[in-house]
Amino acid sequence: MQYISTRGNTPKMQFSDVLLMGLAPDGGLMLPETYPHIDDATLTKWRTLSYTDLAFEIMQLFATDIDKADLKGLIDKTYTVEAFGKADITPVRKLKDGIKIIELSNGPTLAFKDIAMQFLGNAFEYVLKQKNERLTIIGATSGDTGSAAEYALRGKENIEVFMMSPHGKMSEFQRAQMYSLTDKNIHNIAINGMFDDCQDIVKALQQDADFKEKYSLGTVNSINWGRILAQIVYYFKGYFASTENNSQKVSFCVPSGNFGNICAGHIAREMGLPIDRLIVATNENDVLNDFFQTGKYRPRTADKTYVTSSPSMDISKASNFERFVYLLVGKDTQKLTALWADVNSGQGFDLAELLGDIHSKYGFTSGKSTHADRIATIKAVYESDNDLLDPHTADGVKVAREVRKNGEIIVCAETALPAKFAETINEAVGQIDIPRPAHTENIESLEQFVTVLDNKADLVREQIEKFVVAK
Ligand SMILES: *Cc1c(COP(=O)(O)O)cnc(C)c1O
Repeated sequence: MQYISTRGNTPKMQFSDVLLMGLAPDGGLMLPETYPHIDDATLTKWRTLSYTDLAFEIMQLFATDIDKADLKGLIDKTYTVEAFGKADITPVRKLKDGIKIIELSNGPTLAFKDIAMQFLGNAFEYVLKQKNERLTIIGATSGDTGSAAEYALRGKENIEVFMMSPHGKMSEFQRAQMYSLTDKNIHNIAINGMFDDCQDIVKALQQDADFKEKYSLGTVNSINWGRILAQIVYYFKGYFASTENNSQKVSFCVPSGNFGNICAGHIAREMGLPIDRLIVATNENDVLNDFFQTGKYRPRTADKTYVTSSPSMDISKASNFERFVYLLVGKDTQKLTALWADVNSGQGFDLAELLGDIHSKYGFTSGKSTHADRIATIKAVYESDNDLLDPHTADGVKVAREVRKNGEIIVCAETALPAKFAETINEAVGQIDIPRPAHTENIESLEQFVTVLDNKADLVREQIEKFVVAK
């Protein structure tokens, strides 16, 4: 399988090269030339596979330049009961009203990002060893990406991690998770700004070709193709867990920010998985909801991004969105390049003429949830089901309930565990004891290590120069 850039100006590449990349040199995102198609007989064969066997079957279609036995080894090492708590890795449970929840958050940092990131940590180490290279990972996080990346890369050989987060914008638990790490290759940087500012710094450094080369910069933020690939697996797993045969269709409702999670669902659907609808749930930062309702994409600037009680979705420029729009505009790289020029000039774009395709051909729909909605949903589900939802998952359940058609099977992605967001949970259901995995007990009382910097790429550059030897 060959990989190309959405902007059409990057030579074709193999999986192991794309794995170590952030943005493509032409500013686009890498993706396979075409998505493989899975026929009905194969789906039936896959239906009963374990998580690791299913992951292998799917990933080997995309990671064609990695030795198959090695790939199987990486997958088996990643998806263990020890790391993810449960043998089937992403079990599906059901609420009393029939809505299903796919548990994606039983990994080390209690968020869905672990599923991709734990794989990426092992895959990076493997590929770097093969190529005899090293990597300086720079990343931006509004909470969950950063901790998931740090827990996946801590102590890994030939990898240094510089993770930027918006100063004071994460929950106490998220800060404790990241800043309490003592591994020498992990560097936490809190930026005086918003998440999008952090992301802009990452982009600025990535676009400095000289610096990038000298310090072997790479990224694990949600534009990384390896992450999307690892996430495709649980759409198949969730589909099989929610159906008895392939004639049934399933809709997925996904609390969304950077469009990374649901992009994997979109690709699974393109591969032929019988997905009915892909429901994008946003919080008050509803740029994606506006797009899927109107066809107008109007990303907001950082200062117009709200700080909400589902903070991992506080995003106003969805970094993976381009992978879908590329297909939507018929793989027209020139048109896509022009659209993103309009995004970067602050203007956005209008694809209202394609709304029919967006809804019917690609199955997308959307909804929005506010603070009051998520509080009410957490409370209602706790009272009816004795089941605690985290605030992001509650946004998904709220939207799923709102858009559900008669007889539609909807699977909501549980993107984090409630223990990460105690304040909001307590606001919804009172001062209850929120269950916590043993390894996170008392995490807030550990000493924290973080460097606070102003919102300037050069200050981050200096930090990297201080800790990494230039080539
Ligand atoms: C990252 C994250 C999201 C948003 O996922 P995207 O891939 O950015 O759309 C939603 N919920 C939680 C808890 C997250 O950590």
